[in-house]
Amino acid sequence: MRTILTHRIELKPNPIQEALFRQCVGAARFAYNWALAEWQRQFEAGEKPNEAALRRQFNAIKPIEFPWILDLPKAVPQQAIKNVGRAWQRFFQKKSKFPRFKRRGVHDSARLDNGPGTFAFSGNRIRLPKIGGVRLREALRFDGKPLSATLSREADRWLIAIPVAIDRPDPVRERHATVGVDLGVSTALTLSTGEKIDSPKPLKKYLQRMKRRARQHSRKQKGSANRRQSARKLAKLHARIAHVRQDFLHQTTTALTRRFSLIGIEDLNVKGMMANDRLARAISDIGFYEFRRQLEYKAALSGGTIVVVDRWFPSSKTCSACGAYCQAMPLPVRQWTCAHCGVEHDRDINAAQNIQRVALATGSWPGSHACGEEGAGRSRKTPVKPASMKQEITHGIKSHD
Ligand SMILES: [Zn+2]
Repeated sequence: MRTILTHRIELKPNPIQEALFRQCVGAARFAYNWALAEWQRQFEAGEKPNEAALRRQFNAIKPIEFPWILDLPKAVPQQAIKNVGRAWQRFFQKKSKFPRFKRRGVHDSARLDNGPGTFAFSGNRIRLPKIGGVRLREALRFDGKPLSATLSREADRWLIAIPVAIDRPDPVRERHATVGVDLGVSTALTLSTGEKIDSPKPLKKYLQRMKRRARQHSRKQKGSANRRQSARKLAKLHARIAHVRQDFLHQTTTALTRRFSLIGIEDLNVKGMMANDRLARAISDIGFYEFRRQLEYKAALSGGTIVVVDRWFPSSKTCSACGAYCQAMPLPVRQWTCAHCGVEHDRDINAAQNIQRVALATGSWPGSHACGEEGAGRSRKTPVKPASMKQEITHGIKSHD
């Protein structure tokens, strides 16, 4: 089975390369607008414009009329003109609106390649035509054939989007390791193994700064230079937060799906829980939905399963040792002792262990025999949502605008 996943990676260009990047997105916009205008002109003159002819026309005049474009990858204007053809096609198929001219600074982007083989990776570097080897913030995450390389700008950062064709193995269940994951307040994630993973410190710092800056921003006068400057700073901070969070989530979800083939998580999609301010804050800090999305597609890639445990399952109020149910459990209680069997519990680890048990009971492995023999508590009868497996086509940094 073949899947295409897109990895967007931040580029770390040197000043010369950054200048070339600026020229690339400028050239892409220029060629796009040139082809769009030319298309309209030819159409009105009763001709039948097409993108292939426009590309030939552009190539013929560029050495004389636009010599500066020769310093850039030849794919840049070519792919931009191809995009004009696609824009008209989508318009004629009634899938998009009438093609419009591109404006500076609005979705600046450029395709730098002419297909596989016109660019290459080696570790944390990408080799691009005319630009050379550019440092990447991280290596390409997927094993497979990189299909194209599209440059874009987000606030003050440069990113490259690489779709990768991956031959997906048919799901095999070789590793029978299971884990329950509890998402919480004092610790971002607690595993049933007893491990605790905290959200990265810079994230907390940036989120605090964000709150303060957003407040300051709202007080600035609309249309003022001051407000424009603060908007730019906000956008920068947004992008940085998104990046730190995304980095943390990717590291965590990759590690989890590599180690465990059956992962239980709680369904936190519940208004009552979000109404609890502190808990809501902590969960949205790390991004529960993104966490679940990444876990699901990574598990699907490696043949693993994610079990989403029902939101009403009292994971923190049930003793993982004997299954007894503890009535009152205010959130601040971190440690408790089971009145029934006397076992001392760390609140989060106990919750994670209960989630693991429910996941095992419903994960339905062939040969799985773990249907709750160890406990006789309420969790056995708890209705559990079926594991949802869905495949994501793209992932990467979402733009926060
Ligand atoms: Zn107990």
